[in-house]
Amino acid sequence: MNAGCSLEDACPPDKFRAFRAAHPDHIALTYINCSTEVKALSDIIVTSSSAETILQQIPRDQKIIFGPDRHLGGYLNRKFDRDMLLWPGVCIVHEAFSETELLKLKAQHPGAPIAAHPECPPTIVDHADYVGSTSGILNFAKAMPGDTLIVATEPHIIHQMQLAMPNKQFIGAPGADGNCNCNICPYMALNTMEKLYLSLRDLTPRIEIDETLRLKAKDSLDRMLAMASGTVGKGDLGGR
Ligand code: SF4
Repeated sequence: MNAGCSLEDACPPDKFRAFRAAHPDHIALTYINCSTEVKALSDIIVTSSSAETILQQIPRDQKIIFGPDRHLGGYLNRKFDRDMLLWPGVCIVHEAFSETELLKLKAQHPGAPIAAHPECPPTIVDHADYVGSTSGILNFAKAMPGDTLIVATEPHIIHQMQLAMPNKQFIGAPGADGNCNCNICPYMALNTMEKLYLSLRDLTPRIEIDETLRLKAKDSLDRMLAMASGTVGKGDLGGR
């Protein structure tokens, strides 16, 4: 029950509601790492793998608030020349990568490409050969011709990559002192196989969500699913 997320913490619903009220001509495009309340206050949810597809379906003259991750929003703004208003949240894990240490690592492995998650700050993303979601990074690793990849995202993905590609080498991008564990998510680390097993066996702990709130949050999630699969018309972009 304590496994939260720094992005969710960075976006309290009452402040997000006030921000939306101050910008009534903007729709809210919101990264999925947020609370149910913030989802209910949003028009469209995005994941890191659907964000680009969805943003490209929104007319260029539509004003947009993007939250809660300012680095993902900033990356989308730069890539698609948009001007979304960014909520100032960050992921503590991706914020911890060090540009200086990354460049030192790159110097030791000059032939190795860098793959970064768009939650990383621009100082990291700007050095990346590939920027994308966790599944995108996994696919890039499978397709790349070389056998070594530097990975700038939460390092638990490296385990999966190593299992899928035992003949390739995956090196986690370093934090500020070069070998700290500050880029291991302390929240995700609270989830263990034992807890997963017990929760499936005992159906506890339970998270109960008010039904009205659930349905409002589901609207913005349904819109994401429709837009990600290309089954929504351009006139149906919400506007809460
Ligand atoms: S790595 Fe942890 S803090 Fe960062 S977005 Fe994921 S769950 Fe949140």
